[in-house]
Amino acid sequence: MIYRNYPMVSRVVFGRGSFNQLDEIIAPKRQGINAPFIFYVDDVFKGNYELISRIKLSYKDKIIYVPTTEEPKTSQIDRYVEDIIVSYRALPSGIIGIGGGIVMDVAKAVSLMLTNKGESKDYQGWDLIKHPAVYHVGIPTISGTGAEVSRTTILTGPERKLGINSDYTPFDQVILDPELTQGVSKNQWFYTGMDCFVHCVESLNGTYLNAFSESYGEKAFQLCKNIFLTDNYTEQEAQDKLMMASWHGGMSIAYSQVGVAHAMSYGLSYLLGVKHGIGNCIVFNHLSDYYPEGVALFKKMKEKHGIKLPQGICSNLREDQLNTMINVALSLEPLWENALGKDWKSIITREKLMTLYKKM
Ligand code: NAD
Ligand code: ZN
Repeated sequence: MIYRNYPMVSRVVFGRGSFNQLDEIIAPKRQGINAPFIFYVDDVFKGNYELISRIKLSYKDKIIYVPTTEEPKTSQIDRYVEDIIVSYRALPSGIIGIGGGIVMDVAKAVSLMLTNKGESKDYQGWDLIKHPAVYHVGIPTISGTGAEVSRTTILTGPERKLGINSDYTPFDQVILDPELTQGVSKNQWFYTGMDCFVHCVESLNGTYLNAFSESYGEKAFQLCKNIFLTDNYTEQEAQDKLMMASWHGGMSIAYSQVGVAHAMSYGLSYLLGVKHGIGNCIVFNHLSDYYPEGVALFKKMKEKHGIKLPQGICSNLREDQLNTMINVALSLEPLWENALGKDWKSIITREKLMTLYKKM
């Protein structure tokens, strides 16, 4: 048996207001006046003086606002990388992503593609990256995906939605400042928070589970139950704890895998552009055969927070479209093996997936 030797985020700061230390943290990494820091910032913060004024720009440093209506595409990453190379003709000192899963994934992908030749679509998969990335920093402004801690950056390419999974993908530095999550809308808070809950359920009920994953998964699962089902916490405590749940949920799948909800949600995302958080919720709602306890809790959480999920999003799809989603879902073999074991192919059939998708 060969055990995987996983990288982790090298440095992390946690605390309300810790974002104020950004300048001081990255300053020692500056490589000179011609090597800027590039800040990718969620465009929801455009014009938000309170946040933007705390990003101290020097020399040729630049802020680039990232739209979040769609999840990141490989072509978009290639464009960002080309813009940097054309503008500066030198590698930047660092790439800093400030936002949700989308912006953190953009920052990770750009930092990798600056030092690895060719197009980002050619690196979608496992361990295809050859060279270490440019120094990169992740600063989440919404909690749940675990993108701040994971060794992947999920991109939609011309042929598939798949991560660039590599030992060089994790951030060199993460700043966890729960205050930054203050302005998130209730629905988005729920959808992205449920991504974390689903990570825990899929990892804790998977065949890949080991004591390492379990220790993180159980903690995050407990935090999610308290945050979403009780009134035990003040708003600030809930923000702090959800940020840590996201971290632990991400750590829990590092040494294991996600499962049925993620596989099927990738199908919805690929065909219909349904975003990760809400897509997981739409799918998970129908998975009581696979995760009975988790789905029952999810339904209670949904009820408590008055969340209404879209319905019938697949009801008018053609047969070939449903088949495309099924193909995308089934291509994610490790997820199925984790969820259902080595015999997964005899357990999950195209017909079962078709029936499930048609209910969504
Ligand atoms: P997101 O990045 O799509 O952001 C959701 C919405 O919240 C956006 O409209 C954004 O503008 C808004 N938002 C973010 N912070 C805010 C704030 N403080 N105030 C107000 N609005 C705010 O959502 P997400 O759920 O965090 O990320 C989903 C993405 O993450 C997907 O692209 C998915 O593929 C990816 N993902 C990556 C990993 C990984 O390990 N790399 C894991 C899970 C998901
Ligand atoms: Zn997820």
